Amino acid sequence: MCEDFPNSGDSEESPQAEDPTILPFSEVIRFHGHLCPGVTLGYCASKIALKELRAGRDVDEQLVAIVENDACGIDAIQAVTGCTLGKGNLIYRDYGKHVYTFINRVTGDAIRVSLKDREIDDSQKALQTRVREGTASQDDRLALKKLQQENLDKMLAAPPENYFHVKHVRVEIPEKARLFGSVKCSKCGEMTAESRARVQNGNFVCIPCFDEYTRGW
Ligand SMILES: [Zn+2]
Ligand SMILES: [Zn+2]
Repeated sequence: MCEDFPNSGDSEESPQAEDPTILPFSEVIRFHGHLCPGVTLGYCASKIALKELRAGRDVDEQLVAIVENDACGIDAIQAVTGCTLGKGNLIYRDYGKHVYTFINRVTGDAIRVSLKDREIDDSQKALQTRVREGTASQDDRLALKKLQQENLDKMLAAPPENYFHVKHVRVEIPEKARLFGSVKCSKCGEMTAESRARVQNGNFVCIPCFDEYTRGW
């Protein structure tokens, strides 16, 4: 899920030295599959998180990320911070916002990282509109691609704080992921985690097999 490419509001350009403790961007691209603004912004947010929380990549749920969207940037956050859906320390909230809360369980520190307002210049907006509407010429497409690449290069060279507001916050630390036993679904026969199973006519069923009863409220 990629969005239109933003321009940076700030123009400060001091190339950042590669930090050896941060996963190289090339690895993030390999994981995500393509280069895009979303994954680049996610990389910026992840760099802020590890720096501000004085942490390395998570090994066993020392870090937690609460993410408020399910777009490209989340792949960068999983790859760089080690907060992953599978481990249970990536918590997804469907708010459609470029906002991330990172927590260090060891120190109790937490930060809220939110994307700054961005300005897209008019010529880029016009190009994006033509591409979206299918009226773009080959030259338009090339011009937009070039602009996007320039913006990505700028984004990677600039301090990540150029793109995000960063606030140290107090949050309740979510409990670590629990382990649950499994039960067999009485309809499809597949195993399902006890915590997600439903009961129908006295038997366990998995969620897809469960006939929801509602009185329409
Ligand atoms: Zn992407
Ligand atoms: Zn089932």
